[in-house]
Amino acid sequence: MSIDSKLPEVGTTIFTIMSKLASDYGAINLSQGFPGFNCDPYLIDLVTKHMKEGKNQYAPMSGVPVLRERLAQKTNKIYGIGYDSETEVTIVSGATDAIYSAITAIVKPGDEVILLEPAYDSYAPGILLSGGVPIYVPLDLPDFSVNWGKVEDAISEKTRLIIVNTPHNPSGYMWTNDDLNKLAQLIKDKNINVISDEVYEHITFDGREHLSLMTHPILKERTFICGSFGKTFHVTGWKIGYCLAPAELTSEFRKVHQFVTFSTATPLQYALAEYLEEESHYLGLPEFYQKKRDLFCTGLADTDFIFTPAQGSFFQQVSYAHLSDESDFDLAVRLTKEIGVASIPISVFFKDKDDHKILRFCFAKTDQELQKAIETLQKSILF
Ligand code: PMP
Ligand code: GLN
Repeated sequence: MSIDSKLPEVGTTIFTIMSKLASDYGAINLSQGFPGFNCDPYLIDLVTKHMKEGKNQYAPMSGVPVLRERLAQKTNKIYGIGYDSETEVTIVSGATDAIYSAITAIVKPGDEVILLEPAYDSYAPGILLSGGVPIYVPLDLPDFSVNWGKVEDAISEKTRLIIVNTPHNPSGYMWTNDDLNKLAQLIKDKNINVISDEVYEHITFDGREHLSLMTHPILKERTFICGSFGKTFHVTGWKIGYCLAPAELTSEFRKVHQFVTFSTATPLQYALAEYLEEESHYLGLPEFYQKKRDLFCTGLADTDFIFTPAQGSFFQQVSYAHLSDESDFDLAVRLTKEIGVASIPISVFFKDKDDHKILRFCFAKTDQELQKAIETLQKSILF
């Protein structure tokens, strides 16, 4: 038998590769984006409580009502925007599930989908599996802002969807009001939907406000907002997230979601619903992560890397273009094996592996780990 692969160009993700390399070589793992510390023990107690109370069978396909309600309340409180918890809020198994289900609900063979590069790695495979055609539009370096002229040029009769991400992985760029207005202007008279990946909505720095696409009326009515409890509550391994979208879009979304995972772990949903009652559990995140970003960046200032502190997300990019011609992939591997600090080469987020000589470090780690990584980078001769 021969298998005619549906994804011939897709291999193992860089996150798996670099985390394994870090583990094989005993390196400090600042590559894959996950917290290097535990979540609040109270959250674990809540899960245990709900398990003991017998919340161990299938949850409703769209999510347990109390979690959908709390999420709708939280969204209303923070952004002043209402979503109907019954018809417009769906709990899913991570933002990856939300993004895949939304793509699958919308994209038909031959449809074009605009991606802003560098783009998170799960977007393109989802499009290809639906027979869609990814159209890549580069973000403007060095800040990774959106070049709206290029987006406009990329829109065609076949454009059906655009996928955006703010705060942005890997750069940390956060959308401005101007970005929201420009996108709305470009698509308002067209049959184009939007997937807005907002998994880092609560990780924002220097007083910046996350501008969710739901806050723009033209965008709200055509957008799937995808979020992740994993990022917000330091539980990436739980794989639990959500999709907020107008009722007609949610109805199509759920048709797919029910056959991707059907439903998501029941005790986790009840626990998160209870945990959401206390808003400091998520409103404290900017301060918590800003300390880590600042600790890391203060240390980086004593290395030869060039960088601008991230606006949001838990990633810090650094450039070494002025120091070496080595490819970012080779450098990331060499730093892991020889120096003992693992990172992600950002070329992997480009279809053609464009090498801008930039590495991405995840600073969602303990202060001790960050300190150790910084000391190692400072004392090593890197080039
Ligand atoms: N989108 C982005 C930009 C991410 O960085 C991640 C995970 N790191 C995801 C989506 C996936 O989130 P989840 O783990 O909830 O599936
Ligand atoms: N989103 C995480 C990152 O950017 C990785 C998640 C994964 O491994 N799939 O590092």
